[in-house]
Amino acid sequence: MSIQENLKRIQKEIPDSVKLIAVSKTKPIEDLKEAYEIGQIDFGENKAQELQNKSPQMPDDVNWHMIGHMQRNKVKYIAPFVHLIHAVDSWKLAKEIDKQAEKNNRVINCLIQFHIADEETKFGFDLNEFLESHTANNYHSLVNVKFIGVMGMATYTDDENKIKSEFKKLKSIFETLKSDYQFQNFSEISMGMSQDYHLAIEEGSTMVRIGSSIFGARNY
Ligand SMILES: *Cc1c(COP(=O)(O)O)cnc(C)c1O
Repeated sequence: MSIQENLKRIQKEIPDSVKLIAVSKTKPIEDLKEAYEIGQIDFGENKAQELQNKSPQMPDDVNWHMIGHMQRNKVKYIAPFVHLIHAVDSWKLAKEIDKQAEKNNRVINCLIQFHIADEETKFGFDLNEFLESHTANNYHSLVNVKFIGVMGMATYTDDENKIKSEFKKLKSIFETLKSDYQFQNFSEISMGMSQDYHLAIEEGSTMVRIGSSIFGARNY
């Protein structure tokens, strides 16, 4: 199957209310252009420098999503143009994004990443940690960052019930922060990848991040 065939099939499966982010990490610019040709304008990358390299090679109306864990010293590379940063996983990173956004005279939309999976290696807060550290209040003090929702990754497993319960957890974190902690701007839940996007959509995802099902397996 070609990239365009894959993309068309997935676009048909996804309701209009859910945004499809084509995850193009490691893939050559020609692959992104193929997707763009049939109307894909949201692209996700997990490395700041790769994102920075690719962006001038694509049309200006592309929305660039930074979906991976970020080192603070890399924020400056993408701050001038990034559309949405999905994985804010520390207060220090949030402050750095705010600083770089201010330098560029813009407000950068961000999601707060929560750890919902079993795996030790996945980044993100757990809700209690986030609330206990009083970071919720701090987060409201940032002027050049707008928090518009949450992001999470489920455990890599065949156990659908487990995946569903992890997505439910992220949805409930979203609801709690929105209703009890003044995150009024919350509207997005970024969850679901090639393996589990159907389940994520059933559980309330508003953005799915799909790579290999569109572009094929990655060679690292
Ligand atoms: C790579 C990646 C994806 C896409 O993964 P696929 O399994 O290829 O769909 C989604 N989210 C994040 C954070 C990623 O790093």
